[in-house]
Amino acid sequence: MLPGPGPIGRATVPARVGPFGRVTGLSRVMGTRTAWTGVGDGEFFCPGCGGDRNYQRLTGRRRFTLLGVPVLPRGETGPVVECAACLQHYATDVLDHPTTTRFAAMLRDAVHTVALAVLAAGGTCTRTSLSVAATAVRSAGFDDCTEEQLGALVEALAADTGRFFGEPCGAGLAIELHEALDPLAPHLAPTGREAILLQGARIALADGPYTPAERDALSTVGAALTICGDDVTRLLAAARTPS
Ligand SMILES: [Zn+2]
Repeated sequence: MLPGPGPIGRATVPARVGPFGRVTGLSRVMGTRTAWTGVGDGEFFCPGCGGDRNYQRLTGRRRFTLLGVPVLPRGETGPVVECAACLQHYATDVLDHPTTTRFAAMLRDAVHTVALAVLAAGGTCTRTSLSVAATAVRSAGFDDCTEEQLGALVEALAADTGRFFGEPCGAGLAIELHEALDPLAPHLAPTGREAILLQGARIALADGPYTPAERDALSTVGAALTICGDDVTRLLAAARTPS
């Protein structure tokens, strides 16, 4: 926690910003100084220096200054987010973007959930399907994912939900897919969203053409990734043809 305001109310001004903050107007004869106070902290992705950084959330009190002495309050400003590394200030909506670490975890969970949904929809998991699925899940970041683990999870999923293999995408699985994909979709470029759907399609195709249940699961994946229906159809058809 930062120390409270000093004798002239500027103890929380970051070192590199300098004691005068933003000085406007007639040089330093008259100006506006902002005294920042820390009101929270955390980790964010800094768009300025391009990485996961610590931040402080700051609110500021602006004062009109004469010869460097604050004479009149000019109201509140902020809150802003200050990067601990580059000291740049950003609007608080910068916190809407996930950190690199969080984004990687979301992506990994998304691919894992899609793989499970497609395998569960596909009926009895063949060795080939499990192999394609495990490769996709490992490359998404679950380094030690094995065919056996995925197979066991799919069986547990079927037992837990009382579903039979090969049925259309059940409500439970649809909810799982939306929970894993909805928060991720806004942060992915269209090609990134399509890539996740195509990974699911390749798992489905590993043991033969799409079954209706697999198509259903993949349509749910597409919808959760905000890919329009026509594009889902086009992508599923394209995944058929080895490139
Ligand atoms: Zn930064």
